Amino acid sequence: MPELPEVETVVRGLRESLPGHEILGVEVFWPRSVRDLDPEAFACRLEGQRVVDVGRRGKWIVISLSEGHTLLIHLRMTGQLVWEPEDSPDEKYTRVLFHFDDAWRLRFSDMRKFGRIVLTDSSDEVLGDLGPEPLSDDFTVARFEEMLSERRGRIKSLLLNQRFLVGLGNIYVNEALWRAGIHPRRSANDLSCSDVRELHGAIRSVLREAIASNGTTLADGGYQRADGSSGEFAHQLAVYGREDAPCPRCGETIERIEVGQRGTFVCRRCQALLQGGE
Ligand SMILES: [Zn+2]
Repeated sequence: MPELPEVETVVRGLRESLPGHEILGVEVFWPRSVRDLDPEAFACRLEGQRVVDVGRRGKWIVISLSEGHTLLIHLRMTGQLVWEPEDSPDEKYTRVLFHFDDAWRLRFSDMRKFGRIVLTDSSDEVLGDLGPEPLSDDFTVARFEEMLSERRGRIKSLLLNQRFLVGLGNIYVNEALWRAGIHPRRSANDLSCSDVRELHGAIRSVLREAIASNGTTLADGGYQRADGSSGEFAHQLAVYGREDAPCPRCGETIERIEVGQRGTFVCRRCQALLQGGE
């Protein structure tokens, strides 16, 4: 499932190509992808608008348009946005095609159909509840400590909550907790000052490194960059998906457990569980 580094990589790819281009037409093959609007109204409102900018908020792709509308796209499990020439071969899971000038198109494909496209003139209605951006300057250690001190839940589940902090999903939460040496079942408000500092640094470093490697494309596919190529960070994953393999830091066997019904990968030696849980 695309997380912050994958979405950021798609956004960077689209930002190189889309701005200035005009939407000539839109074809919706799966109406639920644009569920808030009738497909015909959706297409009609978009036709004739130009792309002004492409950005990101959390895991949402934010495309600003010339008439003040914003196109918000969430890739969810298997969504893909690919910028390609109009004469590109058909793709089986295409749900929406945005036809642009100069014979280019933006293809939204989505095998599992959980992706979501919203056309709005008030993006706050969708994005207003989101937590801070982990890579922003105002996400400081002090702020993180304050955010955590009010929370009793398990740290892993909390980090997956987009209203608490945006951008992390199951891959990077597992990686960040391992880097910081924190067991996923520990309580958020039990973390020591140095745990919080380690975790803050780990979240930011793993996200930055993953962006530098254009995100993680797993063996079962799913995420693609805006030009259809793969991300390379999968080779650098320390724990995610590495059950029974040795921990890269200490050699202990990595275990798979469940936390909040999500598969969770831990090194028992590097991530000691101090209290509660197991
Ligand atoms: Zn270890």
